[in-house]
Amino acid sequence: MESAKIAIIGAGVVGLAVAAKLSEKNESVYVLEKNQKFGQETSSHNSGVLHSGIHYPKNSLKAKLCVKGNIMTCDTCEKYRIPYKRLGKLTVAIEEEEIDELEKLMQQGQDNGTEDLKFLEKEEVKKLEPNVEVEKALLSPSTGIVEPDELMNHFYAQARKNNAVLATETEVTGLRNVNGRYDIDGTSVGEKFTITAKTVVNCAGLGSDRIAAMVGLDVDKLGYRLHHCKGDYFRVAGKPPVKMLVYPVPKGAGLGIHLTPDLGGSVRLGPNAYYVNRVSYEVESSEKEFREDVERFMPLIRERQIQVDSAGIRPKLQGPKDPFRDFVIRHEADRGLFGFIDLIGIESPGLTAAPAIGEFVSEIYENEINR
Ligand SMILES: Cc1cc2nc3c(=O)[nH]c(=O)nc-3n(C[C@H](O)[C@H](O)[C@H](O)COP(=O)(O)OP(=O)(O)OC[C@H]3O[C@@H](n4cnc5c(N)ncnc54)[C@H](O)[C@@H]3O)c2cc1C
Repeated sequence: MESAKIAIIGAGVVGLAVAAKLSEKNESVYVLEKNQKFGQETSSHNSGVLHSGIHYPKNSLKAKLCVKGNIMTCDTCEKYRIPYKRLGKLTVAIEEEEIDELEKLMQQGQDNGTEDLKFLEKEEVKKLEPNVEVEKALLSPSTGIVEPDELMNHFYAQARKNNAVLATETEVTGLRNVNGRYDIDGTSVGEKFTITAKTVVNCAGLGSDRIAAMVGLDVDKLGYRLHHCKGDYFRVAGKPPVKMLVYPVPKGAGLGIHLTPDLGGSVRLGPNAYYVNRVSYEVESSEKEFREDVERFMPLIRERQIQVDSAGIRPKLQGPKDPFRDFVIRHEADRGLFGFIDLIGIESPGLTAAPAIGEFVSEIYENEINR
């Protein structure tokens, strides 16, 4: 039986960032990924936004890791010449009644350490974005965009440089704690395998609740059961109608249908948010829903052609009517699983936070496991 010091299950942006960090100081780091290539699931089906941290409650992991991750990702992009842009973001109050919400976001952002936020009046917004018609806006200059694939290539290259091994087409189907080590069963390129690892990091995204259940955790009792919340995108054809990211004030499970320019300058609308029971990346929403939402703050959209683009699925701990849920990043030692680290519910801002999550997991490993 092969043996690993650390086995990371899942090679999305989070598993790769964790692998890059843990392999700096540790030999024998294996990443097990069921698909043919890394990053084929949520990490390549998202908006590519580097969030600034205004959307999450004070002291939550989402807030802390987002603010830190934004800085770390931008520094990494600068250092390794990974394309990114700090375009800035406007969160807009379309009606007077929404101004209170902007004020709450400003306060929350400041509580979380986002220091560069600024209110803009109607005319100031119009100067920056002539096609946007709103009462007031909150400007977040540090919000940016990045190409998720490029970021993943970077984390993968770092992990490889440190001798971490990525096993693709390798699906984990069983996990047992045997005398303080973990036996991991699965199928690799059509063949059954078992490896043993001292430490396991569960970075399995949409499958992370299943991995937690495999090792014997009661996911319902612990509140680890994931809900799948889908988001569709459309793309605005032709000339980009905005230069910055433009978001309405958030309502419901997502951040509201917003406008996101990509690095090529083209603009996407979305994602919306609706709960689903199956994983499918087909766009299921209507063009009408998107137009109606966006025309509330950008009437120009009525004259523009929009095309079906793509979709992504959020691994949400929060069910349809539940209050805020934070990321779960937890060493499960007190549940009889010394050396098993769970990462569950890593929805947005998981892309932004990825390098900070890598550091956070590495701190847990060094302080609690590798003593
Ligand atoms: C619509 C949408 C928009 C988003 N926009 C943003 C944004 O703009 N900014 C931002 O910061 N975040 C955003 N996010 C969130 C971000 O994309 C995720 O937080 C991040 O990609 C999660 O990465 P991950 O590595 O945890 O998961 P994933 O990318 O899903 O990776 C998990 C990996 O585990 C593998 N796996 C699962 N089960 C097994 C198994 N049994 N055996 C082996 N491998 C397994 C999967 O194949 C997969 O490759 C968005 C998400 C969605 C859905």
